[in-house]
Amino acid sequence: MKVTILGGGESGTGAALLAKHLGYEVFLSDGGILKDQYKQQLGDKGIPYEESKHTWTSTFDADEIVKSPGIPDSLPLIKELKALGKPIISEIEFAGRHTSATIIGITGSNGKTTTTRLTHHLLTTAGYHAALGGNVGLSFARNIIEKKCDYHVLELSSFQLDGIVSFRPHVAILLNITPDHLDRYEYKMENYVRSKFRIAMNQREQDLLITNADDPEIVRFRKSSRFPKSDGPRVIEVPTHFDSTKKLVVAGSEFDMTQCALKGRHNFFNAACAIHAAKAVGVGDEAIQQGLNTFVNAPHRLEFVAEINGVEYVNDSKATNVDSVFYALQAMEKPVVWIAGGTDKGNDYSQIEDLVRQKVKALICLGVDNSKLLRVFSPLLKNIEETGSASEAVERATIYAESGDVVLLSPACASFDLFNNYEDRGEQFKKAVMSYEL
Ligand code: ADP
Repeated sequence: MKVTILGGGESGTGAALLAKHLGYEVFLSDGGILKDQYKQQLGDKGIPYEESKHTWTSTFDADEIVKSPGIPDSLPLIKELKALGKPIISEIEFAGRHTSATIIGITGSNGKTTTTRLTHHLLTTAGYHAALGGNVGLSFARNIIEKKCDYHVLELSSFQLDGIVSFRPHVAILLNITPDHLDRYEYKMENYVRSKFRIAMNQREQDLLITNADDPEIVRFRKSSRFPKSDGPRVIEVPTHFDSTKKLVVAGSEFDMTQCALKGRHNFFNAACAIHAAKAVGVGDEAIQQGLNTFVNAPHRLEFVAEINGVEYVNDSKATNVDSVFYALQAMEKPVVWIAGGTDKGNDYSQIEDLVRQKVKALICLGVDNSKLLRVFSPLLKNIEETGSASEAVERATIYAESGDVVLLSPACASFDLFNNYEDRGEQFKKAVMSYEL
């Protein structure tokens, strides 16, 4: 069996290592430059690879192609391989064939990383031997070789799901579906919705799908396709409205949320989904409560930074679209000095205008071109300013913030105009806050 791996990031390298481990003949081809760490790992295992090109003969010579999620189907090479009838799968499909562990797969437009990490944390708190991987952390394929686990908790993007054939999670979570990545789906929302639902397409009666009771796209798709069929998975519908901000009731069990670092209605929903998944694999309520109390989310997602002179500073740099800002503002219980801006992705701010009116006392724009933010929010807000760096933004925000307020970085935009990426933006914000404290 000859396998060609297209793309040599974490996913492709993981797939190559697994293929080699299984005794396949492997070749890895990347149109760009490979990171040194991956070259080293491939070299150590004697896996041949090429970079900055896709050599025709080596690529076409394979029995099966494993394509990394970043490579679009529109690439001429992929079109040609398809025309020749070569099977093209994702690393998730490839890896899924080589484990008998229980799989919990998590997808959605927003909240994947948070829910995946929480689910994994609930399982490990209960003493389960579980690996975290997929679209977050290490690849599924690498985890199969390096961690002999009974459970794999996987974050799954729609691109990863596009390349599955028989991959079947025992427990699947489909959080929500809002427009995203439509450039990869012929700008058709129905294609993107279908892609997300692939997470459940191979599930059987004994499997479980946990999904959103209120998401219009999910509700519409389920109705129009009569999902699930009689031999399909059991479905748990999780509501997105909660009566209390202090406790969470899931499947008859009550959990105290006052110690939990996850704030906001959207995170209660994420937590409810994770709890359902944990319960489905037998985790007890006591361990779940302990896990909720000790969970630390990935940085840059409504991350508490510091409280200085009674002002709370929150870093939500990962909020790169308007939907995420909606949930961030909704989660804020104090008056907000809002830092936003960056590279606009065609934002429509009408969704958050009411929340801004209710909660925001000042807007500090942090971007090269702030004209849209100024145009939309000047009629709503008295205090609005432009800044060009994280430290300037923090300085100006602090002038408006009084004790009892919160300074929230939740940009609604990509970061590439002023920063390397959203992590860089969040780190610079945190650094500016901490140096302000000194
Ligand atoms: P993903 O991995 O899907 O990008 P993250 O957990 O990294 O999701 O969160 C990304 C952003 O989306 C954060 O700003 C967060 O506040 C927001 N978010 C998290 N969960 C939800 C949800 N259930 N619905 C809407 N927005 C959410």
